[in-house]
Amino acid sequence: MTAQVRLRHGPANGAAEATTTTALRVLTGADEAALGVGEDVGREPWVTRVLATSVWELGGVRPSPVDLRALSVGDRNALLLMLVAVTYGARAEWVIECPSCGEQLDAEVDLEELVGSAAPVQGECTGAGFRLPTCGDLEAVSGMADADEARRTLLDRCVTSWRALDDESLTAVESAMAEADPLADIDVLLVCATCGTTVSAALDPRAELAARLATPGQLMEDVHALALVYGWTEPEVLALPRQRRTGYLNLIADGGP
Ligand SMILES: [Zn+2]
Repeated sequence: MTAQVRLRHGPANGAAEATTTTALRVLTGADEAALGVGEDVGREPWVTRVLATSVWELGGVRPSPVDLRALSVGDRNALLLMLVAVTYGARAEWVIECPSCGEQLDAEVDLEELVGSAAPVQGECTGAGFRLPTCGDLEAVSGMADADEARRTLLDRCVTSWRALDDESLTAVESAMAEADPLADIDVLLVCATCGTTVSAALDPRAELAARLATPGQLMEDVHALALVYGWTEPEVLALPRQRRTGYLNLIADGGP
């Protein structure tokens, strides 16, 4: 099963015309097993592994890791969220605390709608002395514990002569960058029903995917249950994506034949 995703920018790899059509492949159990292990799960180099596994086509060909690292952060987020949607379902739900009154608020978003609803790009996005941060830029700063150092390094890589800008001009450049790549930072706004405060809930696409990956123990339970009933081998069970495995497990639980 694949899903088409239209990117806003496509890889910034010097091609005269950016490629913006992509096809994503749903993750199988074997993909979940491979992507769920390693110390980098949920971090930047892992994102490139995820995209190399699932982005089947970029402009009609299988993309290389170099192409994938050249994607803008917003394009990367669109792909990660659509991958979550096709593999696990489009609904994302989480609970945040109202900072004013402490009420627990339920945040809920449809990931496909979120990806589709980001405002279209206005005008040229590499003008005004900047280019958009890419996955490769995030990989370069991913080991930095100091957030200020990471920000300065990103600015060095993406904004021409930023150290010569005053605070106001730098803020303007950063706003223009955010506007040109609306899915680079995703905030879902909620209004607290108790006190009326508007609360902003950040959505991290990496964390949304990492939290849904089946654990080795869950995969083993799926293999055990489906092999017992259907006689399938381990590779056959792990070739199925989560929703198919769950569908068969539900049939078994319902007392099928
Ligand atoms: Zn409140």
